[in-house]
Amino acid sequence: MGVKKIKTGFFSFSCCEGCQFTVLFLDNFMKMVDKMDIQYFHLLKEKNKNTRFDVAFVEGAVTSKVQIKKLKIIRAKSKFVVALGACACHGGIPSMRNFIENKKLEKYVYNQKTLKDAVKATGIGEYVEVDYYMYGCPIIKKEFVDFVNNFIKGKVIKELEGPVCDECPRRGKNCYLIEKKICLGAVSRRGCDALCLRENVPCVLCRGPCPEANLSSEINLFKSWGLDKKDILNKISKFKNVDT
Ligand code: SF4
Ligand code: SF4
Ligand code: SF4
Repeated sequence: MGVKKIKTGFFSFSCCEGCQFTVLFLDNFMKMVDKMDIQYFHLLKEKNKNTRFDVAFVEGAVTSKVQIKKLKIIRAKSKFVVALGACACHGGIPSMRNFIENKKLEKYVYNQKTLKDAVKATGIGEYVEVDYYMYGCPIIKKEFVDFVNNFIKGKVIKELEGPVCDECPRRGKNCYLIEKKICLGAVSRRGCDALCLRENVPCVLCRGPCPEANLSSEINLFKSWGLDKKDILNKISKFKNVDT
């Protein structure tokens, strides 16, 4: 007897859909598809909302009242909800708009109707219970594959603890902080295998702060280099609004 496939839906709110594309571009995508009974995935043209899901993968930030309603319906129909990527986890790139007045935004947003019922851009956890947060902009392919492979066996993978520095090849040798270059690895949630650092790019906190992050001491360090607090906060708040 074959293993029961997991009935899945992939849903998208305000975002670039890059996390869904990351799933489509998995090296072993066909193998993964074999393990899932995909009922809803609009990039694949599977559109059956009238069902119940074992897992709903929800991508994108919530930015309007109509999205809140849709999200609550998805939650009600799903046994398990995964926040897929930085936008769904904590607002991501769309949450930058929270610093701009709607009047100003109207000048730039191409579909101004969307601003009529706008709410503060947040992660989906603001409105529904989330069972698993898959961080990153975009998500890490390996984590998605591990998640599905374990879920099929009735297990949920554990989130990794600690900061990106723990995975960084520059740690203790040529850390960017020694050169007074902003790198947010010390406050970022690990799990990406320090992807950017391996490509010689400083960490920009796309996975959000790790639970033990000491953001105020990070900000004080950058201030001691003569950097302006507003500029520092802009950098730290790219993927998640940070209040200090
Ligand atoms: S987390 Fe990044 S890649 Fe994923 S949908 Fe949001 S903006 Fe796109
Ligand atoms: S992630 Fe950044 S701050 Fe951490 S060790 Fe690497 S270079 Fe230094
Ligand atoms: S190194 Fe930082 S910015 Fe790069 S993927 Fe990891 S958490 Fe995101």
